Amino acid sequence: MNRIKTFFFAVAALLFVNVFAADNAITQTSTIDALLKGLYEGDRTLGEMKKYGDFGIGTVDFLDGELLLFEGTFYNVKSSGAVVTPPDEMKTPFCSVTNFSAEKTVKLPKGTDFKGFMELMDKELPSLNYFYAVKIKGSFRMMKARSVPRQSKPYLPLVEVVKKQPIFDFENIEGVLIGFRCPVFVKGINVPGYHLHFLSGDRTKGGHLFDFVVEDAELSYCRVNDFRLFLPVTADFANGDFSDNMAKALQKVEGSK
Ligand SMILES: [Zn+2]
Repeated sequence: MNRIKTFFFAVAALLFVNVFAADNAITQTSTIDALLKGLYEGDRTLGEMKKYGDFGIGTVDFLDGELLLFEGTFYNVKSSGAVVTPPDEMKTPFCSVTNFSAEKTVKLPKGTDFKGFMELMDKELPSLNYFYAVKIKGSFRMMKARSVPRQSKPYLPLVEVVKKQPIFDFENIEGVLIGFRCPVFVKGINVPGYHLHFLSGDRTKGGHLFDFVVEDAELSYCRVNDFRLFLPVTADFANGDFSDNMAKALQKVEGSK
């Protein structure tokens, strides 16, 4: 009898592991090029996106600030700098989520900045051809982040919007950076390379990351090799022209210069 029980539990455990592994995908709504083109209205709610993960980044309807999904809760960093927890019914025009479970944790050297971190992590990774969910937690001497102001029709392309973006400079701040490292071949769909958002430990500050300097922080990451894309079923997306190469616009939007 005991052997049968043991067998039953072993099978159940295996099934659980498989179900969990199958869930470890990045699930995304819309594409980065659609966002760059000014498609700021989504058709998926935050509540729906939460079904596919507890960790992620993006923005909310009408581009009303930066978005993070951290430990199962969405945080929306408004252009005023205020952080709110948006309702599940709020829609998102661009958002990527996954289930975060740290595969590896590495202490980052004191004084590491964003550029230094990217070089360090790229060297650490055995392959750059997969997605990685990235989390950096700790204290930072400096943190530079931005948000974006809510838009109304007719929508300007994102490259125009960010010309008026508020930039937040924080000093000696604790918190977490979360986001993704995407492979080079995702261009058009997501951001090749690193894309991180910041949330302070007290959940009152944050934004899209431009730069940081580590005081005492740890990097955790996990590889994700499954990617699911929901295309918006909206008139703007159906009629959009996505034939341009948006790489230059993306660079301007992602960086601080
Ligand atoms: Zn961002």
